[in-house]
Amino acid sequence: MKLSRKNFLKTTGVVAAGLSFGITPKFSINKSKAGKMRLTFEPYTLQLKHVFTLSTSSRTTTPVMLTQIEYEGIVGYGEASMPPYLGESQETATKFLSKVDLSQFNDPFKMDEILAYVDSIDVGNAAAKASVDIALHDLVGKLIGQPWFKIWGLDKEKTPYTSYTIGIDTPDVVREKTKEAAEFKILKVKMGRENDKEMIETIRSVTDVPLCVDVNQGWTDKHFALDMIHWLKEKGIVFVEQPMPKEQVDDNAWLTEQSPLPTIADEALQRLQDVIKMYGVYSAINIKLMKCTGMREGYKMLNLARALGMKVMIGCMTETSVAISAATQMSPLVDWADLDGNILIINDPFNGAIAIDGKMRLLDLPGLGVEKK
Ligand code: MG
Repeated sequence: MKLSRKNFLKTTGVVAAGLSFGITPKFSINKSKAGKMRLTFEPYTLQLKHVFTLSTSSRTTTPVMLTQIEYEGIVGYGEASMPPYLGESQETATKFLSKVDLSQFNDPFKMDEILAYVDSIDVGNAAAKASVDIALHDLVGKLIGQPWFKIWGLDKEKTPYTSYTIGIDTPDVVREKTKEAAEFKILKVKMGRENDKEMIETIRSVTDVPLCVDVNQGWTDKHFALDMIHWLKEKGIVFVEQPMPKEQVDDNAWLTEQSPLPTIADEALQRLQDVIKMYGVYSAINIKLMKCTGMREGYKMLNLARALGMKVMIGCMTETSVAISAATQMSPLVDWADLDGNILIINDPFNGAIAIDGKMRLLDLPGLGVEKK
C-alpha cells in the first residue's frame, strides 16, 4: 500500500505542475472505462516554531500522515494531524490506512458511500479517517475543476479573521510573542494554570486587540470559573473555550447560563452525534476536522449547530496547509476561526489557504487549492 518515494514525487508532480502554470485541469469524468482510486500515505513530522504548552503538556513537534488519492492521473491531497493527547499516532494511522481499499470504488463522486465504508472499517481513528476524507474532497474538487467553497456556494470574501495562539510562558516571552503577532486581529490565550490573570495582564500591557481564551478544561469550580469570566469580560475577552472538564456537564450548563461571555465546547465533542448533546450546555461548538473525520462530517456539524441556534467556531491542530485549507473552505460560514496551525510550523510542504494580515485567504484553485512547494 505504501508508495515508494520516487512514485510519491512523480504523482504529486503531475498536479503541482499543472497548477503552477495557472491551468485549471479539465478532465473527462465520464470515460467509458472507469479508473480505480488508489490511496497512498507517508509519515511526516511537523516542526513547531515555538514550544507549544497546554494546561497539561508541552511539545516541539507534531506527527502527521500525508495522504494521496490518485485517480486517472489526478492526485487529491489529505492529511492526518495527530497531537499525542488525542490518542492517534503514525503507527495507528498506518495500521488503519493499510486496511482502506479504495480500489473497489471506480467513482470518486460517490463520496457518501466511500466515506461510510472508511468510517465502518474500525472505531476511532478520526484523524486517519479525515486524511482520506480530505484527499477525496481535493480529488473531487479537482475533477470538477472548482474549489469547495464554490461547490458549497460560499463567498470567499467572507472568510473570518483567525485567532493566533499565544502559548503559556514567562511574561517576557509572552510580551515578545504578542508583539510578533501584531498582524492578527484577535489573539487566543491558553489558560487553566495558576498564572491565568498574569497572562492576560501581560498581553494587555502590549495590545488592545480582542482576546479569546481557551481553558482546556482547566477550571474545576463553577463559581471560580464564573468569577474568572466576569474578570475576563472587563479585559476585552470575546469568548471562553472549554472552561471546565467535559464530564462536568451540569456545571458547564450552569456556567453557560450565567456567563456574560459565550462558552465554546471543544474537548466535550468530537463528531456529528455529539452536537445535540452540546445544546444547552455551551453557547457554541468548535469543529475540528481531525476529531470529526473530515470535511463531510464537519460541514454537517456546522449546519446542525446553526439549526440549533448555536454559534460555530472552526479550529485546527498544528497542521500543514492541506488540512488548514480544507477547514478554510467552509470558514465563510463560521462565527470564529482558529486556523493558525500552518503558521505555527516551519516545514510546511504545501502552499494553500493561509492568514494574510490575520484574515484567512482562499485561493481560486480546484479542490482545496493546495500545491506542493
Ligand atoms: Mg481548544
